[in-house]
Amino acid sequence: MKQSFKIYIVFDNKCHKPGFLPGFGFSVLIYNYFTENFSLFDTGGSGDILIHNIKKFNVDISAINNIIISHAHLDHAGGLANILHINPNIKVYVPNDEEKGFSDAFPNNQIYGCSDMTEIEKNLFISGQITGSFIPEQSVFLKTEDNEFVVLVGCAHPGLEKFIIKARNISRIRAIIGGFHGFKDFSYLKDIDFIGACHCTQYYNSIKETYPNQFKRICVGDNYSF
Ligand SMILES: [Zn+2]
Ligand SMILES: [Zn+2]
Repeated sequence: MKQSFKIYIVFDNKCHKPGFLPGFGFSVLIYNYFTENFSLFDTGGSGDILIHNIKKFNVDISAINNIIISHAHLDHAGGLANILHINPNIKVYVPNDEEKGFSDAFPNNQIYGCSDMTEIEKNLFISGQITGSFIPEQSVFLKTEDNEFVVLVGCAHPGLEKFIIKARNISRIRAIIGGFHGFKDFSYLKDIDFIGACHCTQYYNSIKETYPNQFKRICVGDNYSF
């Protein structure tokens, strides 16, 4: 099967491989085989740790084209300033309701607010922001060669099921990776082959016990191809 995406875990607090650094937060580096571009989903809580881990994968910060910020918490947006300092040409996609805040903080950079689902480059979709009583949050849907989704989530504060439902309206979900926060309606995960719960996931052990064959332990320093 042809490869569509390669993802590199560059920031997490649960586990890390030797030579890589842990830190509170989450970030995934994405290589898109359709466009041959790198994008970054979230930036962890520390720019220094993030840059160390990206370089450890032998990827240059200048090769990154896009950053997608899931939500405006420091453990996801904390490394943004350091990355933009090195590469000011990166396009930054934030939830629409947070656009003003980010534009004020980074007046010389390219900040774009997303409200609806957007394909920012071939087969790389931003979910669109989910709002309500929670902080606005967006996720990333990577569409593989065989039209399945790899879903990346930050903290999933508005409820992981909201992102799952949105993706499933379009296609089957093959993998879901990120912070699941307080999510506990595990039946939503039943048909997902790869469940990479990490970061802020509160029911980590229950998810692992419910789906022992689908559950994957996500560590900083791991990479996966889809
Ligand atoms: Zn978080
Ligand atoms: Zn958060």
